[in-house]
Amino acid sequence: MSVHQAVRTPADMAIPGWYAVLPPPKAPEVLRGRYMADWVIVGAGFAGLAAARRLSQLVPNDRIAVVDAQRIGWGAAGRNSGFMIDLPHELGGENYGGSREHDVKQIQMNRAAIDFSGSAAEEYGLHPYFVRAGKIHGAATDHGLRSLREFESHLVGLAEDFGSLDATDMKRITGTDFFVGGTFTPGAVMAQPAGFIRGLATGLAERVKIFENSPVTELRTGKEHHVQTAEGEIVAPRLILTVNGHLESFGFYKQRLLHVFTYASMTRTLSDREQRALGGEPSWGLIPADPMGSTIRRVGDRIVVRNTFTYNPSMTTSEDQVRQTGHTHDRSFIARFPMLKGVAMEHRWGGHLCLSLNSAPAFGEIEDRVYVAGCCNGLGTVKGTLYGMLAADLAVGTGEPMVAEALQEPPPNKLYPMPLMAIGAPLQLWAMQRRAGREL
Ligand SMILES: Cc1cc2nc3c(=O)[nH]c(=O)nc-3n(C[C@H](O)[C@H](O)[C@H](O)COP(=O)(O)OP(=O)(O)OC[C@H]3O[C@@H](n4cnc5c(N)ncnc54)[C@H](O)[C@@H]3O)c2cc1C
Repeated sequence: MSVHQAVRTPADMAIPGWYAVLPPPKAPEVLRGRYMADWVIVGAGFAGLAAARRLSQLVPNDRIAVVDAQRIGWGAAGRNSGFMIDLPHELGGENYGGSREHDVKQIQMNRAAIDFSGSAAEEYGLHPYFVRAGKIHGAATDHGLRSLREFESHLVGLAEDFGSLDATDMKRITGTDFFVGGTFTPGAVMAQPAGFIRGLATGLAERVKIFENSPVTELRTGKEHHVQTAEGEIVAPRLILTVNGHLESFGFYKQRLLHVFTYASMTRTLSDREQRALGGEPSWGLIPADPMGSTIRRVGDRIVVRNTFTYNPSMTTSEDQVRQTGHTHDRSFIARFPMLKGVAMEHRWGGHLCLSLNSAPAFGEIEDRVYVAGCCNGLGTVKGTLYGMLAADLAVGTGEPMVAEALQEPPPNKLYPMPLMAIGAPLQLWAMQRRAGREL
């Protein structure tokens, strides 16, 4: 039997706006005592719930248990900006694109994941939280516009639909004349992430046992796997780990996962007068031309701004970091929406992204009947869903062809040694964010 102790468990701080605007959840079921299952999944984000849903379809008579350290939607799954993107989305590049062959495969797999989430949205009535609205890439500078036009040529090469937007179109949609142009791509889903993930868990709860507020402190793996929490344990012959960057907390993928935080602020509700002053369409989502710029969403009477990346190998952020990045959000907000001067942010939060140097996921069978799906490189709403779903297929042995594709991907590359990472990663992020200029 192997023992994997968690050297840390997640403790996401500050209520994410998406969670705050939902009705309060019902009381959690905390794991107490021993629970016997056929399958245990640790982590109830996009990956964990996708694995649970897929298992519930493949082996409907098996007992499936999911356990999370926090409330559903309190972690990154409910903290993100809700862009479920079908197209290539490489955060490290200058225009989100990769090689043609790689991108074609990624698009196909991303769409399979989005459709999988779409079928859950359909089954559980989650339409308000899962809208096939498409997304806009917005450029604030001529340099940004050139990147978008390059991105568009890449889309032509991939035979993908898009619409080219000029400054007038951008003002008509967003209400601001901040943007000089944009690119609309129709395949993205705009999610209310906390609403979607909570709705998914609620829908699944009929077939899957879900424990919340139950941090897993130890895994003992062997013929039966034991998943230990402070007050209980789950025993099962098969284990799927969907804890994202916390894979490393259990000793897996050591020195291979890059722990980065990004931050968001959500305004208070805008009055009718403020909405008239803003103009534009009531609902849209905009990704910056430069990946290090600001993501902006308007969701009816609120606006959400996301920007800034920090390197946090401790896997936690601080009130101070959330406050500091809040100043950057305020500057980005007022630069775009001077007509909303005086509108305060009601919620500010940060969340954990797991990246790898080569943008590769952590996926596969890492010990006998222990499977992992994590490290989704900033696109976890889709990639988490994809690899979670494929982990279930791999474990059941369905022969799903995408499993073979996923297994062919290289593992996350080794990081540079720690003193180099500690100095180099923040510097690199600083330089990339500086390069974003007005796009931030
Ligand atoms: C501000 C922000 C904006 C983002 N925007 C986007 C976006 O627009 N689109 C997009 O695709 N992605 C976005 N992301 C990234 C996205 O949120 C993540 O990639 C995604 O949540 C990863 O899904 P996951 O299921 O792999 O991991 P997570 O959602 O992190 O879920 C892992 C779960 O494991 C649990 N866990 C960890 N350790 C333990 C333990 N010891 N015991 C029990 N449970 C444990 C955690 O509590 C957590 O709930 C954003 C992230 C942030 C922070």
